[in-house]
Amino acid sequence: MRIVVLAGGIGGARFLRGLKATLGIGAEDPQGGSSITVIGNTGDDITLFGLRICPDLDTVMYTLGGGINESQGWGRADETFTVRAELAAYGMEPQWFGLGDRDVATHIVRAQMMAAGYPLSAVTEALCDRWRPGVRLIPMTDDRVETHVVVEDEQGRRAIHFQEWWIRHRAALPAEAIVGVGVEEAKPAPGVLEAVAEADVVLLPPSNPVVSVGSILGVPGVREAVAAKTVVGVSPIIGGAPVRGMADACLSAIGVETSARAVAEHYGSELLDGWLVDETDAGAAVAGVEVRSRPLYMSDPEATAAIARAALDLAVELKERA
Ligand code: GDP
Ligand code: CA
Repeated sequence: MRIVVLAGGIGGARFLRGLKATLGIGAEDPQGGSSITVIGNTGDDITLFGLRICPDLDTVMYTLGGGINESQGWGRADETFTVRAELAAYGMEPQWFGLGDRDVATHIVRAQMMAAGYPLSAVTEALCDRWRPGVRLIPMTDDRVETHVVVEDEQGRRAIHFQEWWIRHRAALPAEAIVGVGVEEAKPAPGVLEAVAEADVVLLPPSNPVVSVGSILGVPGVREAVAAKTVVGVSPIIGGAPVRGMADACLSAIGVETSARAVAEHYGSELLDGWLVDETDAGAAVAGVEVRSRPLYMSDPEATAAIARAALDLAVELKERA
């Protein structure tokens, strides 16, 4: 079976680990009868200190490749921060971004390859040669797309990079709008539309519906291609709140209520065929979408694999019914 997953960072990566487990896909055997292609969000990408940083692609790569800081959910395991401290000693800004020494090596490889003319998709493939994530990881686009957030405070109304809003301000500055700068002109990266066209099913993990899955669907052509498939999503919202992170701030910025039902309605029934909600949200009904409830906390590898299995089983069932 060919499965395509549209993934952000932590929620996407953990779900993917469960999906690999339930399919028996190991690092040495990237096919194993089924294949997973991950279309990764690049809207969070940022250039700092001359380095191109792709937080969501790296979170997926490190998580599936065994290099992630487990408790944090992002960044490298056994990380140190000497480079960061040295940069701060020079007074270099910004100082709010947590750039670890091991992680810096990834960004140097990426910056060097990009300076030599390689597109991000080729760089990602090269980085994955080391990490062997067991999935094919493709950025949503090779073009530069950056999510900016329109905020207003004592300094006036302005657009700041998503990372500045998310990390520096902890999403606490009220957002008036969330804009994908460059997204209208972006083209899907090589392999994205082909993978979707060839997919048996498409899964939306519990990733941020606005700045992760929303950014991917915003690349011209992607939403239409995905909507033509059997699509099942897993709600990132349980009992009216995000499980972790500040997805509620992103949802309010675009005028969507923080609930499992509202997120499904935001994706829309032309896109979604099935929607998994937590038991707490068992009553949620969405016109034109098959809603099923089950525990949705990715509390340990077994629970996560069972969630991924439930999403996959529902997708197969709905595909057969169609
Ligand atoms: P990010 O790029 O690191 O923000 O990660 P994602 O884009 O993948 O989004 C994280 C989303 O995953 C948040 O909206 C969380 O509410 C959701 N999430 C995190 N852990 C869980 C979990 O255990 N279960 C469910 N259902 N959602 C989760
Ligand atoms: Ca992200």
